[in-house]
Amino acid sequence: MSVILSVRDLTRYYGRIRAVDGISFEVPSGSVYGLLGPNGSGKTTSLSMIMGSVIPQSGTFQWFGNDKYTPHDNMRIGALVEAPRFYPYLTLEQNLLILARIKGVAPEDIRRVLEITQLWPRRLSRYFTLSLGMKQRLGIAAALLGDPEVLVLDEPANALDPEGIADIRHIIQEEASKGKTILMASHILDEVEKVCSHAAILKKGKIIADGPVGELLSEGDSLVVEAFETEKLFKVLEESPMVTSVRRENNTLVLVLKKDVSPADINQLAYSRGIVLTRLEKRKKSLETQFLELVKEEKG
Ligand code: ATP
Repeated sequence: MSVILSVRDLTRYYGRIRAVDGISFEVPSGSVYGLLGPNGSGKTTSLSMIMGSVIPQSGTFQWFGNDKYTPHDNMRIGALVEAPRFYPYLTLEQNLLILARIKGVAPEDIRRVLEITQLWPRRLSRYFTLSLGMKQRLGIAAALLGDPEVLVLDEPANALDPEGIADIRHIIQEEASKGKTILMASHILDEVEKVCSHAAILKKGKIIADGPVGELLSEGDSLVVEAFETEKLFKVLEESPMVTSVRRENNTLVLVLKKDVSPADINQLAYSRGIVLTRLEKRKKSLETQFLELVKEEKG
């Protein structure tokens, strides 16, 4: 799979604040890549650097394998990074017409992007009359003008109600299914878990974990096991080098496995000690639990 964006050691300080501190990551073609982090962790600064509006102090990035960000690349990327500036007293259509002219996009494309974002019926409304969710969708519509192959979205669902969040999620999923590559920043972990194929977790300007969301989820999974001889099993597991920790929940034992240890290994271990497991189940941690744990670990 080819790489759309490659970031190496990108760094930006503001005085003594390390907004972004040597981050590196790669966005594979066709992925929905989430930059996940709490407020102030450096997401907006990172996106602003790769969009060319903030100059990094050090580090490099490559779009489409090119060293320099060119006007041609600009046409291939649709971005919603800083709050979009629309004219409050112009209609949605008029606002998009101005943007289409700036981008060199045919006016016919306006209908397409307004339909994708379900704003076509409101095309003659003035911008200031829109709800927050509609304003956010119009920002995405603007990013979609010209049908770019990459979308860069900073907190696209920020401050929206559950319905508004679901609308944005739907648009992102639709665009991803068309083969677009999407890089989005978010502090809503549940959203990243639902929408993203890959994620990097940012904390205080540093990436503390990254990779396919499936892998981020599986690392450190816990396993739920039961047997008739609970105490004997507990002792075996407690002494096993394959197990990080084991605790009791009534007649159930909950284990955290060392990396690369599978549930089958645990089954075999029990069997070799003459214990038959009556239950063996993986318990997936949400990315949110993992995120909180990772942030806590970093503090320690
Ligand atoms: P949020 O979700 O709250 O927008 P973020 O993860 O996008 O946060 P950034 O906006 O990139 O984080 O900010 C990272 C750090 O850099 C913060 O401590 C912020 O105060 C600081 N910062 C960002 N922009 C500037 C600036 N122009 N001048 C000074 N400090 C800045």
